[in-house]
Amino acid sequence: MAEDKRYDIIIVGAGPGGLTAGLYGARANLKTVCLEKYLPGGQIANTEEVEDYPGFEHISGSELAMKMADHAKKFGLQIEMEEVEEVYVDGDDRVARCASGNIYRAPTVILSTGGSPIFLNVPGEKEYTGKGVSYCAICDGAFFRDQVIAVVGGGDAAVEEGMFLTKFGSKVYIIHRRDKLRAQKIIQQRAFANEKIEFIWDTVVESINGDGNKVSSLSLKNVKTGEKSTLDIGAVFVFIGFRPNSNITREALRKDQGGYILTDEKMETSIKGIFACGDVRSQLVRQITNAVGDGTTAAVAAEKYIEALHDKDIANVK
Ligand code: NAP
Repeated sequence: MAEDKRYDIIIVGAGPGGLTAGLYGARANLKTVCLEKYLPGGQIANTEEVEDYPGFEHISGSELAMKMADHAKKFGLQIEMEEVEEVYVDGDDRVARCASGNIYRAPTVILSTGGSPIFLNVPGEKEYTGKGVSYCAICDGAFFRDQVIAVVGGGDAAVEEGMFLTKFGSKVYIIHRRDKLRAQKIIQQRAFANEKIEFIWDTVVESINGDGNKVSSLSLKNVKTGEKSTLDIGAVFVFIGFRPNSNITREALRKDQGGYILTDEKMETSIKGIFACGDVRSQLVRQITNAVGDGTTAAVAAEKYIEALHDKDIANVK
């Protein structure tokens, strides 16, 4: 039977931001629940190896996720497997309505719903994700030192990340489906001046190939001539866009042009009592480290928000 449950803080999404918010919320003795439709970890749960989270020189994404979840649970965070369909405002309550029919109520909600890269959807992409197919240059670039790296896309992310990858790769090919980049001119100029970068124009990836353990080549097709070719590579980074999961609230939230949620320095969104942290939030970088920082701030801000509500109630009674 569907239940109506009451908490101090509801966190939507158990990625690093959400789990950190959960740890801080629960540790502050607030009744805190984190609702997650899959297993805890968010994107890191599918990350083969993490080597840029301080204190852990090498750790698998799934192990780090488990450690974060266990750590937060030790302080009393409740993690529930629930798919949140909608978050809305009901007076002083912020409400999460779940696919199960359960309703969670609290004065505060922290959205840590993350986002997902847009996939190429070609054969081999899923199979080799984490084995040479990546969607994060900062996370994975260093694994491909002195190898030939391919980047797919023609926007700011593809070109900027392509330049970043020249620190590691012996050569970086940027494969774009048109003959003009979408990236800003200044970024284009820098990339054109970079001797390690070569552009492959008017070309799409038809498949990602390997030996079962690791990527070894791309099958390409020139969309103008129809010519097919094979490019030998050690890794391919796909940057054809990223979709933040920011459409969960009934009331409109302020967002940037890319659909990322705008917050203030307390991680509070344009709706009072609703906070956001991690990849769903508008910010410069999308890393585990800053999601964790956001989660900390969001939980502490939520605590202060609840205290202010109590003070208001006491003042009204007096
Ligand atoms: P984007 O600007 O939407 O560019 C996506 C690129 O991928 C486009 O070149 C597009 O080609 C290509 N593409 C899309 N679907 C494809 C497919 N199925 N197969 C092959 N190519 C495909 O995305 P983004 O580069 O991730 O940037 C997202 C937002 O973040 C933008 O607003 C961007 O300005 C911002 N951003 C800013 C910076 C910065 O300012 N330093 C850095 C990174 C991102 P077409 O051009 O043919 O459509």
